[in-house]
Amino acid sequence: MSATPAPVVVVIGGGIAGLAAAARMREERPDAEIVVLEGSPEIGGKLKLAEVGGVVVDVGAEAMLNRRPEAVALARTSGLADAVVHPATITAHLWNRGDLVTMPRTMMGIPVDLRALAETGVISKAGMARAAMDTVLPATSLDGRDTSIGGLVEERFGKEVVDRLVEPLLGGVYAGHAREISARAAVPQVVALLDRDRSLGKAAARATSGPASEIPVFAGLVGGVGRLPAAVATASGAQIRVGTTARGLARRPEGGWTVVVGSTTAPELVHADAVVVAVPARAAAKLLSDVVPRAALELARIEHASVALVTMAFAARDFPAVTGSGFLVPPVEKRTIKAATFSFAKWDWVRETGDGVLVMRCSIGRHREEHQLQASDEELVQVALEDLTDAIGLSVKPIDTHVQRWGGGLPQYAVGHLDRIGTVRAEVARVPGLAVCGAAYDGLGIPACIASAHLAVSSLLDQLPALPSTP
Ligand SMILES: Cc1cc2nc3c(=O)[nH]c(=O)nc-3n(C[C@H](O)[C@H](O)[C@H](O)COP(=O)(O)OP(=O)(O)OC[C@H]3O[C@@H](n4cnc5c(N)ncnc54)[C@H](O)[C@@H]3O)c2cc1C
Repeated sequence: MSATPAPVVVVIGGGIAGLAAAARMREERPDAEIVVLEGSPEIGGKLKLAEVGGVVVDVGAEAMLNRRPEAVALARTSGLADAVVHPATITAHLWNRGDLVTMPRTMMGIPVDLRALAETGVISKAGMARAAMDTVLPATSLDGRDTSIGGLVEERFGKEVVDRLVEPLLGGVYAGHAREISARAAVPQVVALLDRDRSLGKAAARATSGPASEIPVFAGLVGGVGRLPAAVATASGAQIRVGTTARGLARRPEGGWTVVVGSTTAPELVHADAVVVAVPARAAAKLLSDVVPRAALELARIEHASVALVTMAFAARDFPAVTGSGFLVPPVEKRTIKAATFSFAKWDWVRETGDGVLVMRCSIGRHREEHQLQASDEELVQVALEDLTDAIGLSVKPIDTHVQRWGGGLPQYAVGHLDRIGTVRAEVARVPGLAVCGAAYDGLGIPACIASAHLAVSSLLDQLPALPSTP
């Protein structure tokens, strides 16, 4: 009797979602032959390291939400347990009418304590009077509908709270606009509590309390979260093929899949029992257009924001004294940068590795504001420096700079996003041996991407040939 051949699983996309899918598949099917196809010359996607001023730092994602288990757990099982750290400070500031003030406590910009908010002076007296109406207005019933987070917060607290608190938070996470991003996707815990609490502020306060609130919000890795992809790739034992763009996907008449890679003149066909499509929405739409056209159409409708990260290294002796981990800039302030992170203050390892060199970064770019990025790297550095001069009194030039552009890097979770993803998943589920995961689906943070990878793998397990039984 011939032995059952090991199943072949191809993962398209070597970002954190694809690599997490490979690692989870390895756990579930130790016998599987797993191949990760990555189009660019290196794995990792938005997790990326670069050297700036002699210090290797993240020039993409730099922190992992710690109040969800997936990212830190993956780091631990991938051999990076000793590298897991928490920020030295997470006190953020807000650029407010030309000054930096301590960021009020909010849930994605939704105030959780109006008295404390009033003390910060971020919201004008008239704005506070309007915000206080949240507690007396009749309950907002979404009745199963979705709405924008900006629309919801404006209805309860007024426009100023949206402009000065929600916009800068959303600018940071999604590079998006408050009046376009889905409330159900951005703050699901708060929306779920709206039926119980008439006040949105109370719902937000409740969503941020409980045992989880004792856990540090963020975690990082000594040496950067950009170390995670290589560690996960190794742990997965997958065959990693970089510089290998998947150009086509087709079902084989006898079952399973053919992935087309290579040039149009010399295509290579890779066969698989199952395929995980772990690429950004637009690339996924292209790959799925023949096999799941309706899912492809929905994915193609997801818009994306482009951002650039300007990382700069300064001689420590020249840098002005600052407090906290950085600051956010609301669009109403009409500056170019939307956030600055004092990486040297946030992460002990960045300061210690720097040894007299301070590394920090500014981010630029919001959805549909690509014109801000149509500038040379030198110009982006220059505008970042000008904003920093006004914000913290910086008066010296950096000793080194690095500009990382993330064109179309952040999917926009528009109103109705969850329904759209529901349709995509339902359509994909009808096709045997196919699954999707990544930043477009259940959240764009690292833990959410990993969770989507786990879901993708679970959906495939009972479609693979059974594990050979041990005699
Ligand atoms: C500037 C920036 C900062 C961020 N900061 C944070 C942060 O601090 N914390 C956090 O949790 N999240 C952060 N995020 C979000 C998070 O990093 C991403 O959402 C997440 O890493 C996306 O992972 P992914 O695997 O879904 O996609 P990606 O990282 O985009 O990976 C997809 C991979 O697929 C490859 N690919 C595309 N098409 C093909 C093809 N046809 N064939 C083969 N390969 C293909 C790409 O080259 C890429 O490597 C940030 C995002 C950005 C842009």
